[in-house]
Amino acid sequence: MEHILILGGTGEASALAAAVAERGLTATLSYAGRTANPRAQPIPVRVGGFGGVAGLERYVRDHRVTHLIDATHPFAATMSAHAVAAAQAAGVPLLALTRPAWQPLPGDRWHGVPDIAAAVTALSGPARRVMLALGRMHVETFAAQPQHRYLLRFVDSPDVPPALPDHRLVVDRGPFTVEGDMRLMQEHGIDLIVCKNAGGTGAEAKIVAARRLGLPVLMIDRPFIPARATVHEIGEVMDWLGHSAHEPAHLGV
Ligand code: NAP
Repeated sequence: MEHILILGGTGEASALAAAVAERGLTATLSYAGRTANPRAQPIPVRVGGFGGVAGLERYVRDHRVTHLIDATHPFAATMSAHAVAAAQAAGVPLLALTRPAWQPLPGDRWHGVPDIAAAVTALSGPARRVMLALGRMHVETFAAQPQHRYLLRFVDSPDVPPALPDHRLVVDRGPFTVEGDMRLMQEHGIDLIVCKNAGGTGAEAKIVAARRLGLPVLMIDRPFIPARATVHEIGEVMDWLGHSAHEPAHLGV
């Protein structure tokens, strides 16, 4: 029998969990455990790191995982690299379900930077009102540019206030709309957005809002991930699993 291990923490992983549950496949969804209240899921969930490549390989063997699907965020580069190495070591097939990167459209004022450190450096200069749309991670790094007023948006209230001297914090897990994000940017007088090139529609509202308001965006490029088979649609995952989403539910009637 199959046992599909889905590495999650994204909307895509939740959508995939729903799709495999609907087909009655045996699957487990894995979370890193970063958020306090993850969404309820229709398949069993495990939480926490595996303990590096060796730990993931052990988990795969011990739980007789037959298919590994990496549906982590495109910036979860360590987990994705571990998945490539562990799948190879354990001899199980790996598929990545990921969103295509966003591409600039007419009207976009993007300035691309290779990573977080480069984004911090690019913020040297006079005080601005910056929307730091990076989630909770890496926020502290921006304390190196304390002159700005930062607008932060987190999924959960932090236990410890962010160490940025001048910031405003919004707790909201979305879904976000273009109109809502435009309003937020205007209310806070934002003149620069810093974000990761996450791709997909879930996090897109802010860049559409920036385009409509003519605001510049410091766009952080995706990190390097070793080569692996990659798809963008749930249906393609189902094809890979041998359970095409297009198959009629009742055969031979
Ligand atoms: P990361 O830097 O690639 O991973 C760091 C460590 O966290 C991994 O080595 C692994 O620990 C553990 N880990 C990560 N994802 C895991 C998963 N799905 N199940 C079990 N352990 C996991 O990852 P990250 O950037 O911190 O992201 C953590 C989680 O947040 C991921 O699930 C990701 O999909 C989600 N997320 C990330 C971002 C982002 O911008 N990075 C945005 C939205 C959501 P061990 O080595 O001990 O196995």
